[in-house]
Amino acid sequence: MSILNNLLSSVGNLIAPRRCAVCGAAISKQGLPICTTCEVMAPLTNFHLETENPMLTQFWGLMPVEHASALLWYIQGSGWQRAIHDIKYRQAYGVARELGLWWSAFLEESPFYSDIDAIVPVPLHWQRRLSRTYNQSEYLAEGLSRGLGVELLCRAVRRTQYNHSQTLHSTAERWGNVEGIFSVVRPEQLNGRHLLLVDDVFTTGATIISLGNAILAATQDVRLSVATLSVSKARFDKRR
Ligand SMILES: [Zn+2]
Repeated sequence: MSILNNLLSSVGNLIAPRRCAVCGAAISKQGLPICTTCEVMAPLTNFHLETENPMLTQFWGLMPVEHASALLWYIQGSGWQRAIHDIKYRQAYGVARELGLWWSAFLEESPFYSDIDAIVPVPLHWQRRLSRTYNQSEYLAEGLSRGLGVELLCRAVRRTQYNHSQTLHSTAERWGNVEGIFSVVRPEQLNGRHLLLVDDVFTTGATIISLGNAILAATQDVRLSVATLSVSKARFDKRR
């Protein structure tokens, strides 16, 4: 970088410093979108290293899955919760892409994700995508795809039903709400592959299970694994 570029970058930092997506501290313009402290203190689940984990068991009897993990605990009121909210609702898609790349290094350490062939982010219905302007899971998946060096498939499956925001519904209502809402439009992209289904938050698993079963019903010789950026800690605390 030239002296002039360095100078302009420093001036830029003075005018509008880039902020850590988790704690808001000023950070360098390049590199991770979080500060070193937040990186070191990230509430990792380490599920990606466990043969069996409490998230994986959520799929048993509902969808055949090779492995499932979430990178982080989703803790109400935490900086990470705000970051994940910003990724979903406040146009922080660049942060999503960079966190996806960061996340890929964890999955690369794991023996369970070494033969993934392609990544399928959970699709949004076109009306929701239009109102939000982007799908946060696609950006997370884009970072993962780049880091893992595997194909990203955003057009193979479509969300065909527009269900209203699930945040106000009970678990039972959510299950009724997501049955049969996905349609596989390009099975030839999926056949014979080990697919990684990607979403931002794992709560009941209902949406991902619906997506996975729609894929299995419309394709041949597909194996599925699941990775989400975060998983609700409160939900597992209640079960223990
Ligand atoms: Zn921070």
